[in-house]
Amino acid sequence: MSEIIKLLSDSVANQIAAGEVIQRPASVIKELVENSLDAGATDIQVVVKDSGKTLIQIIDNGCGMSPLDARMAFERHATSKISKAADLFAINTMGFRGEALASIAAIASVELKTKKEDDSLGTHICISGSEITSQEQATCPIGTNFLIKNLFYNVPARRKFLKSDRAEYRHILNELHRIVLTNPEISFTFVSDNNQVFKYAAENLRQRIISVFGKSINQSLINVGTDTSIVKINGFIAKPERSKKSTNEQYFFVNNRYMYHPYFRKAVEMAYDKLIPEGERPSFFIYFSINPANIDINIHPTKTEIKFEDEQAIFQIVNAAVKESLGKFNVVPSLEFSENVTRDAHFTSNTSFKPPNIEINPDYNPFEQSGGGQNYKRERDAVPANWNSLYSPSSSSKTPDDFFLPEEQQPEQRSLLDDNSMKAEEKAIFFQLKNKYILTSGKSGLIIINQKRAHERILFEKFLKLLETRKGVVQKTLFPVIFEPSPSDRPVLLEVMSELNSIGFEIGMMGQNKFEIRGVPGDLTDIDPQKTLEQMIYVLGEISGSAEMVLHEKIALSLAKTAAFKIGKLLHEQEMEDLFYRLMSCSNHNHTIEGKKILEIISVDEIEKKLN
Ligand code: ADP
Ligand code: MG
Repeated sequence: MSEIIKLLSDSVANQIAAGEVIQRPASVIKELVENSLDAGATDIQVVVKDSGKTLIQIIDNGCGMSPLDARMAFERHATSKISKAADLFAINTMGFRGEALASIAAIASVELKTKKEDDSLGTHICISGSEITSQEQATCPIGTNFLIKNLFYNVPARRKFLKSDRAEYRHILNELHRIVLTNPEISFTFVSDNNQVFKYAAENLRQRIISVFGKSINQSLINVGTDTSIVKINGFIAKPERSKKSTNEQYFFVNNRYMYHPYFRKAVEMAYDKLIPEGERPSFFIYFSINPANIDINIHPTKTEIKFEDEQAIFQIVNAAVKESLGKFNVVPSLEFSENVTRDAHFTSNTSFKPPNIEINPDYNPFEQSGGGQNYKRERDAVPANWNSLYSPSSSSKTPDDFFLPEEQQPEQRSLLDDNSMKAEEKAIFFQLKNKYILTSGKSGLIIINQKRAHERILFEKFLKLLETRKGVVQKTLFPVIFEPSPSDRPVLLEVMSELNSIGFEIGMMGQNKFEIRGVPGDLTDIDPQKTLEQMIYVLGEISGSAEMVLHEKIALSLAKTAAFKIGKLLHEQEMEDLFYRLMSCSNHNHTIEGKKILEIISVDEIEKKLN
C-alpha cells in the first residue's frame, strides 16, 4: 500500500495558521501595529478603507528592514525577537511567534516598503498568496509601510463571515484603543475612509485616557497603585458615578500588553460593591508590571489571555489596591455631591419628578406610579378596599410560596369576587415569583410570564410603531444632559439620531463631539438618558450583524433590550396587571424577537396530575 501522508505546502500551512491569528481586519491592524512598536516606532499611522476589508495601511518610523530581512519576514516562524526556547520566558516584545506576516501574506495581497536608517535605498516587495511577485529597490523614508489589500480574497468562507462594516470598524477601534492606551508616549493617527478619526500626540497616560474617552472622564479618574514583591500595579480607576452598563471602559494591561482577565476584573468590581448600581460596571485602566517568567502569554495566538502563576494572591492585591484608592478619595455615595450625582437624581423613579404633559401622551405609561393606567384603575376601584389591601404593593414583595392568606379571609375573598359583575378574565390576580416571573390564572391554567422578556416585547413593538409613524412623545428632561460619546459610539449615534428623535428622544448636536439630550420618550422617564444611549449603542453593535433585521427593527430591539426593566425588579400589582394587558395586545405575546419564550401555561390537567 502506498503512503498517504503528505507535508502541506507552505502556502496551505500559512493559510491554516492565518485562521488562528487573523480573524478579521482588526487582527491585521493589531499584528502590524505591534510590529511597529517592536521596531521602536514613535509615530504610527493606520489607514483603512471599508473597515479594512479593502485596504489597511500601517506606516511607522521604526527601524525598518534590510532587503534580506524584508523577504525573510514573510516566512513562517521568521522572527528577530526570540531565538531559543529560554527566550520564551523573558519576552519583552509584542510579537515573538513569527507567524503574523506569513499568515497575512497567505490571505491577502501585501505590499511592503521599508528602509533602515543607514541604507540609502529601501526595499519594495509585493506578495500575493504567499508568493513574492516582485522585489526591487525603492526610495522611501526610514521605517516601514505595509499595504494590505483585499483581505481573505482567496478564502471566501472567511470573507463571508466578516460582519457589517460598522461591526468591523468597532473591532478596529477597540483594538486601537487597547494599543494607544498602552503606549501614550507614541503618537498615533487613524484615518478611515479618508476621514481622520483621531490623532494623538505623545502624551502621558492620564492625558491619553482623556484623549480617547473625552474630557468628561478627567474629574472621575483616581490614581491606583501598589508595589509588591509579586506584582506592581499602577493606573487609574474611575469614581463610581462613571460606571457603565458595558465593559467598554475596563482595561487591564500586563507588561504593556492588553489582557482579558475576568477573574481580576471581579477583584476590581468587588471593591466597588454597593457603590454602583447593580448591572453597572466600574471603569478602570490598570497596568500590571510583573516578571515575564511568572506569566504565560503563549496560551493563545492573539495573546490576550494570559496565565499568572499567583492568581489568587494577585486577586487580593488588586482588590486591596482598588479599595484603598476608593477610600483615599473618599468615594462614598452619600458624601458625593458631584454634578453627575445630583443630575442623575432627577431621573430615578423614586423622586417626585412627575411628567408635566402626560395628558397628551396617547400611549400612557403604565410603569409610572400615577398619571397613566386610567382604564385598569377604574376596574380596580370597583373592588372594595379590603380586597385591594390583600395585594397592596407591600404584600407583593412576598412570593406566592410564603404568601398564605389567613384562613378566615378566604371565604370573604370569594364572596367579593362573586359580588362583582366583572368578567372572569378581568378578575385576574397577579403574583410575582422571585421578582422575575409574573403568575396569573388564565382560562386553561396557570400563566407564567417572564417579566423582562414581556417588557422587552412590549417596548419593541411600541418603538417599532413609533419609528414608522414618527410620532413619539417627548418628555422634556428637567436639565439637558450633555453627552460625549466615545469615538466608537459617535458615528453610530449620528447614524441613528434622527430615528431616536422620531420616537421621543430629543438629542441635538452641540459641537463636534458633544450632544445634548433634552428629552426622552414618554415611556422612559425613569431612565438615565446617557447610560441608556450608551447601552443602546452597545446592544446595537451586538445585533448589527443580523442580516434579516432592518435598521428600524434593530433600533427598536436595542432600545427595548436596554430599557426593559431588569430581572429582579419588584413589581407592584398594578404594574403586573398593566404589563399583562399590554403584552396581550402585542402582535406576538409568546416569543421575543430572538425567539425566546415569554410565557408558559401550565394546564389545570397538568396541575391535577402533579397533585394527584
Ligand atoms: P513576530 O512579530 O512574531 O516576530 P511577524 O511575522 O509579525 O513575527 O514579523 C516577522 C519579523 O518581521 C519581525 O520579527 C521583525 O523582524 C520584522 N518586522 C515586521 N514588521 C516590522 C516593522 N514594522 N519594522 C521592522 N521590522 C519588522
Ligand atoms: Mg509580529
